[in-house]
Amino acid sequence: MQKTKFEELNLSQHMKKAVAEMGFSDATPIQAAAIPVLIEGRDIIAQARTGSGKTAAFAIPAIERIDARRGLQTLVVCPTRELAIQVTEEFRRLFKYYDGLTIVTAYGGQDISLQLRALTQHPQIVVGTPGRLIDHMWRGTIRLDEVNFVVLDEADEMLNMGFRDDVEDILSYVPQTRQTAMFSATMSPDIMRLMKKHLKNPVHIDTTDHKNEVPKIDQFYCELPETQKFDALTRIIDQRDIKAALIFVNTKSMVDRVVSRLSGAGYRARGIHGGHEQCRREMVMNSFRDGSVKILVATDVAGRGIDISDIDTVINYDLPRDDEDYTHRIGRTGRAGKLGTSFTFVVGKELYDLKRIEKNGGFNIQRMDIPGLGQKPAKTEAKHAETDRNKTAARTTRPSKGPAGETSRRQASPKNGRAGEKRQPPSHDEGWITDSTGFRYKLI
Ligand code: ADP
Ligand code: MG
Repeated sequence: MQKTKFEELNLSQHMKKAVAEMGFSDATPIQAAAIPVLIEGRDIIAQARTGSGKTAAFAIPAIERIDARRGLQTLVVCPTRELAIQVTEEFRRLFKYYDGLTIVTAYGGQDISLQLRALTQHPQIVVGTPGRLIDHMWRGTIRLDEVNFVVLDEADEMLNMGFRDDVEDILSYVPQTRQTAMFSATMSPDIMRLMKKHLKNPVHIDTTDHKNEVPKIDQFYCELPETQKFDALTRIIDQRDIKAALIFVNTKSMVDRVVSRLSGAGYRARGIHGGHEQCRREMVMNSFRDGSVKILVATDVAGRGIDISDIDTVINYDLPRDDEDYTHRIGRTGRAGKLGTSFTFVVGKELYDLKRIEKNGGFNIQRMDIPGLGQKPAKTEAKHAETDRNKTAARTTRPSKGPAGETSRRQASPKNGRAGEKRQPPSHDEGWITDSTGFRYKLI
């Protein structure tokens, strides 16, 4: 497919400089398609998969049209605070070379007085979640009468999360002469209705069919009893050279339980769920983003906004209760063209649910066996053998990767597997595959 360079997009020098500094050279397909249409002033409905660069697709044209001498002109509505923060950060990087631009993030959970103070600086851009935006509208601290560009980011997620009325409320307060852009990873009758009601003669852009846009996610599932989930989890973590792993569970208490068991077993893991204070969530997200914590355990709601392109592994510790969440969960990996892998644990009859998810979602989820599971090796012995092996590997192959229990890449093969595996019957040694990340699995 023809690639479009940012150089060809007729952007200001300031913008070109910022984009180059961010390391972008080619525009992604959604950027190449949406930026010129938005600069032209047309409404759009743009569909592109997660991780395809939608933020810059609306942030670039928004910044290019902003008049620094005027008030609030661009309003971006996001489903979650994490997403609102990420969108704000991307805006900041992009308008770095423009003078006098201010952006404010407005989301629930954060002390409103902080936002009120920031709003007195007369931002030209506000990024926020629906509830808090409405709050500010009622207080009169956000005035929408000069807004000429509204973005509904991740519109499908906003509808899924029940924000329809809030979103419509916000739109009804923005002048009719505005330009409106809707971005969504999926299209649904609900989205179409919202579009028909609020967009004017929109250009429909759909880049989801592009081959290079298809997320590269190897999907596996593993049948096991509930009691073996934790062992299975640590085995997967041990076997992969994980940069960042996201583990999904279904309840807040399960987040806490899995984190505490991981910590107890020597892994650096953190949890994130809606019951946590905002500042704690932010701290956890930052340590995950900067790589100091590689394992994050989350519920669906907390995991929704997580947008980090380096997540290489998603583990569905619990099968999602809602089929659609499967897509959202695995979509956190395989982003920005990188390879991702997902593992789903299924217990008993959940297999039927997984088969339904696979069929309806058009996925190919392969069954796999986790080496050594169910054999109940003497735990302490296996753990010592493990530590010894790590030491040997560190001495002979490369420097140690950090604290014990951090992930270590194994040049795994049937012959040099861990001590526990050696006790496996020989049939287990046949048909093992080592993937490009060094992870070893067996299809059965
Ligand atoms: P989406 O909103 O579609 O899920 P994002 O806008 O969050 O995707 O982008 C995903 C990642 O890709 C981000 O880290 C972003 O900085 C990066 N990115 C965006 N555009 C480009 C580009 N043209 N080239 C390289 N990386 C890009
Ligand atoms: Mg996005």
